[in-house]
Amino acid sequence: MTEISSLCVFCGSKMGADEAYADAARALGREIAQRGVNLVYGGGGIGIMGILAHTVLAEGGTVTGVIPHFIMELEVGDPGLTELILVDNMHDRKRKMFELSDGFITLPGGLGTLDETFEIITWKQLRQHSKPIVVLNAGGYWDPFKGMVEKIIDQDFAHAAAAELFTVVDTPAEVFPALADAPEPQDVVLTDHL
Ligand code: AMP
Repeated sequence: MTEISSLCVFCGSKMGADEAYADAARALGREIAQRGVNLVYGGGGIGIMGILAHTVLAEGGTVTGVIPHFIMELEVGDPGLTELILVDNMHDRKRKMFELSDGFITLPGGLGTLDETFEIITWKQLRQHSKPIVVLNAGGYWDPFKGMVEKIIDQDFAHAAAAELFTVVDTPAEVFPALADAPEPQDVVLTDHL
């Protein structure tokens, strides 16, 4: 596996209802900074996104935000970031975040987080990349997500090996070991039904 020097984290622009979500963001932010890994994220200064970025910076780490012009004000783009990349639209944002990152982590978040996570998983299913993807199931938030993917496989809308496209962990301490142990995607996830 390629060494991880830059990690993209998808997470909510709101705080959510359980303290466990922000706690996980703080713990993950500390770990990212201590390991000298650059954080790539959506550039916003609010919600779980803001907690994560501010923690990494407070711990001496580096942060690259990628934000479209039209969201800059909505998500209070943070001028304190190491680097803020302004892009034209959501597609450019997701492509840029993908290009800059050696792996992906999903913390609790809303519809945008879900969209970003499913997109990076489906790109892997389509064999467009083989970068590790870890879903941090803080407070059990992503249990329904896990269940949905199990249902998709159970109902034969994806090969069983699709479950290996990402790893679900319960604690921030498990994130980096899971990134290192992520299996290579199998060709069968793409070719099974062709
Ligand atoms: P949310 O999880 O909805 O709080 O959003 C988290 C991040 O995803 C924010 O930076 C949003 O700008 C972004 N986002 C929201 N909706 C979408 C979408 N449809 N596609 C991609 N990203 C989105």
